[in-house]
Amino acid sequence: MNFIEEIIEEDIRNNKNDAKVKTRFPPEPNGYLHIGHAKAICIDFGMAQKYGGTTNLRFDDTNPVKEDVEYVDSIREDIHWLGFQWAEEHYASDYFEQLYQWAEQLIQEGLAYVDDSTQEEISAMRGVPTKPGTPSPYRDRSVEENLDLFRRMRAGEFPDGSKVLRAKIDMNSPNMHMRDPIMYRILHAHHHRTGDKWCIYPMYDYAHGQSDSIEGITHSICTLEFEVHRPLYDWFCEALKIHHPQQIEFARLNLSYTIMSKRKLMQLVQEKHVMGWDDPRMPTICGLRRRGYTPQSIRNFAETVGVAKRDNIIDVSLLEFCAREDLNKVATRTMAVLDPVKLIIDNYPEGQTEEVDAVNNPEDPNAGTRKLPFGKELWIERADFREVADKKFYRLTIGSEVRLKYAYIIKCTHIDKDAEGNITAIHVTYDPETKSGLPLSNRKVKATIHWVNVNHAQEAEVRLFERLFNVPDPDECEEGQTFIDHINPDSLHVTKAFVEETINLNNKADYYQFERTGYFCVDKDSTNGHLVFNKTVSLKQ
Ligand code: ATP
Ligand code: MG
Repeated sequence: MNFIEEIIEEDIRNNKNDAKVKTRFPPEPNGYLHIGHAKAICIDFGMAQKYGGTTNLRFDDTNPVKEDVEYVDSIREDIHWLGFQWAEEHYASDYFEQLYQWAEQLIQEGLAYVDDSTQEEISAMRGVPTKPGTPSPYRDRSVEENLDLFRRMRAGEFPDGSKVLRAKIDMNSPNMHMRDPIMYRILHAHHHRTGDKWCIYPMYDYAHGQSDSIEGITHSICTLEFEVHRPLYDWFCEALKIHHPQQIEFARLNLSYTIMSKRKLMQLVQEKHVMGWDDPRMPTICGLRRRGYTPQSIRNFAETVGVAKRDNIIDVSLLEFCAREDLNKVATRTMAVLDPVKLIIDNYPEGQTEEVDAVNNPEDPNAGTRKLPFGKELWIERADFREVADKKFYRLTIGSEVRLKYAYIIKCTHIDKDAEGNITAIHVTYDPETKSGLPLSNRKVKATIHWVNVNHAQEAEVRLFERLFNVPDPDECEEGQTFIDHINPDSLHVTKAFVEETINLNNKADYYQFERTGYFCVDKDSTNGHLVFNKTVSLKQ
């Protein structure tokens, strides 16, 4: 049991909130969700599911400048794709009127005041944690004056930045967040939902807890950086005498070789270091989806990482491991030859095609089999043949034998080369008695290689990816550098392949295992006639 479960179970035992559990996932719609958010989603929804509760999706849209409906739509899609369903969908902006009324209430009770100081003056007066701060000269304004000024702030009488509303708490608190935090700022900006109705906007700390409270959230789970905000969260709920959810913090997910900040991911997109938010190299949920990750593999990853109270860095290979594990169960097996060279079976009858049975997924008996056309000329991987081979090379070399998967044992006799010495064809003979399934098929050979029939192959584009960053911690930079300097210039390789001809856009599986190579999926850039595959992950580490 993790520490969040302990807290929740204790609350249920004490019949707190009538023993009900209600959580929320509160993204700011200012970018696409990434794997860190996926972890938060799994915890928020997972905890509610485990205890028979519900989860709300709430867009924390209090910052009109950076937010957009494009992000709202993508967030909804990503959560659904991960396999979660929210009970209610809300927007912090729907609570603007209520939040405003509560601010007036705090003013009436002498717990909030309008401050004319500049941002710099306010910071300077806050001072440092070890010394008491300096009270603002506007701190003791009368309730009437504060009310009047706050109403005029709302009415749009003052320019941006000229005034703020602050909570009157404690200028001597060792917690800087309690030194009269700002509740409202003036911002004459268009909001993607409320339009031009408002020119004052609540700060995160003033909006978040109250939004939780309005929705009747019981456990408000968030990341560790909000731990120091918790006294303020509690203060607002207490001062307003409203339902008081419990904020619980866990360590955010950090992954090696990965950037996990919306702002920086945005920069990668805007400066075109990647193809877009859904570039298969991006740690965004849409990027992982396009890369060929299953939702289950991401949920398994979140589960494996677990919840911790201390920040740490998870090795990105754990994410890849989770992808492999799940893909092994669900991926449709197919033959694909990545760096092809022609194989000619000299003693196979000219013009003959025979069908061999191929297993679609050995892990899933219901996946069935398919017929593969076998013939005289096949494509095999260039790497499966070596002209000069040592004893450890078990695949094809002149004089050696291998099995062609689902078909016959072949023996290499000679090769053809062009003027530059490149191999243009590998000549073999086959033994008709050794077809898979026949008695002699048990004859031992050291290797089995895959193939595609030259006359029944389609050419495809295959995109192979390396890590987007060269270093484990791209945020660690020397003077004058940024994370951009750590981008791996060689993270995308495009290669030609031959794949089974039956795959097309109307007849494609969601996930493929290219036999012996790795896991792949069909990319959205594909058209019928030009398939593009993304490599998700190799078969083994
Ligand atoms: P970023 O720093 O990438 O912009 P954010 O924290 O500003 O992320 P929000 O939209 O505010 O993004 O986050 C929504 C929820 O997701 C919050 O509860 C936040 O704590 C959580 N979250 C964000 N990043 C991570 C992470 N790396 N690991 C776990 N949870 C995260
Ligand atoms: Mg945030």
